[in-house]
Amino acid sequence: MSLADFQQKAETLDKSDKLASFRNQFIQNEEIYLDGNSLGRLPKQSLELSKEIIENQWGNRLIRSWNEQWLDLPNRIGTKIAKIVGARPDEIFVGDSTSINFYKLAFAVLNYQQFKNKIITDSLNFPTDIYVLQGLINQQFKNHQLQILESKNGINISEDEIEAALDGSTALLTLSHVLFKSAYKYDMLKINQLARKKEALVIWDLSHSAGSVPVNLNENNADLAVGCTYKYLNGGPGAPAFLYVRKELQEKLINPIWAWFSHENPFEFSLAYSSKNNIQKFAAGTPTVLSLAATEPGLDLLIEAGIENLREKSIAQSNFFIELIQEYLLPLGFSIASPLDVNYRGSHISIQHDEGYRINRAMIEPLSGNRSIIPDFRPPNNIRLGIAPLYNTFTELLETVIRIEKIVSEKEYERFGIEKLAVT
Ligand SMILES: *Cc1c(COP(=O)(O)O)cnc(C)c1O
Repeated sequence: MSLADFQQKAETLDKSDKLASFRNQFIQNEEIYLDGNSLGRLPKQSLELSKEIIENQWGNRLIRSWNEQWLDLPNRIGTKIAKIVGARPDEIFVGDSTSINFYKLAFAVLNYQQFKNKIITDSLNFPTDIYVLQGLINQQFKNHQLQILESKNGINISEDEIEAALDGSTALLTLSHVLFKSAYKYDMLKINQLARKKEALVIWDLSHSAGSVPVNLNENNADLAVGCTYKYLNGGPGAPAFLYVRKELQEKLINPIWAWFSHENPFEFSLAYSSKNNIQKFAAGTPTVLSLAATEPGLDLLIEAGIENLREKSIAQSNFFIELIQEYLLPLGFSIASPLDVNYRGSHISIQHDEGYRINRAMIEPLSGNRSIIPDFRPPNNIRLGIAPLYNTFTELLETVIRIEKIVSEKEYERFGIEKLAVT
């Protein structure tokens, strides 16, 4: 296909895009933003709302706002997240960070599965999850073994390898639903079934799937999950994370952090701990009101757009992107480090090149006359291109590939050194 044909195709797809109007709900600037999988854009409404919360709820109403607005906030936000990930509202707790929620659930599972001592994860999982597991073994579950399944292709681990690792001694299997580098998407239902056969519990990390693909926790028979709200959910930097516990498991699992917000009656100030008996038993301290409240407009936009519609657009966009990459970038020494089969792919695409880091820099800091294009970089040589169907257009994807082609063919990246910035 010629460039003119690709241009025609991008324009046609943008014109017929049912979700096109959502782009205008976000603060936009000139640049092409392909990092919504790391920090989603700012919804205009979040700006308004944050001002109201700070000026009025905090500034004016002060402590009264706890009863007027804030105590109910975690439940209200949790209900919206539940809708997006296909869970019941009474199965989602929102608060703390993904790492802390993962710690709570992993601890609870290992404690509950007392007679089993094997933990399985994979080498493509997000490091924080692996660190938490290493810490639990180092400090508390000293006889447990962590088996990290090594990926052979850097993209995924096969279901057969997971099945072979699961055995009667497996307490916990934990995986990212969509892998942060390759965007490989596990078949959640199938893996839950495999684990169930061995009575292993599964914790899914939804950080790269919540808001980008239908997660359907209930339909897929999921036990447990954690995830963050600042990526595809557009909740803002460091916005609180969430956790999910299947209803039947809630009474069996104990939150290792006994704190006043998980107490059945925090405002009686009793000195004896007595846990709540619903999903709020997984709370710890005071909710982070400002950042929690600011997540709501992003969640509302996703719910309004509909996760199935978003997935449909994300599929069309990532397929279009791959077509372009195959046409323009593979001949320049790039390879695609994401699954080509969209059924096993989330909403970002990783491409690899020996000069990946410097090409990434040249995209972000272009020569004058060009607008900036923002992907991110993950070692050793992945350029991650995140597609957020709420605000990315097909035309942006075309411009990105054409720009990368130019950066490489004209060696524009040679302006940069190889030393890396703190946040890549
Ligand atoms: C982004 C991400 C996290 C982040 O954890 P925090 O504790 O919220 O910083 C965890 N897991 C995965 C898979 C992620 O992609």
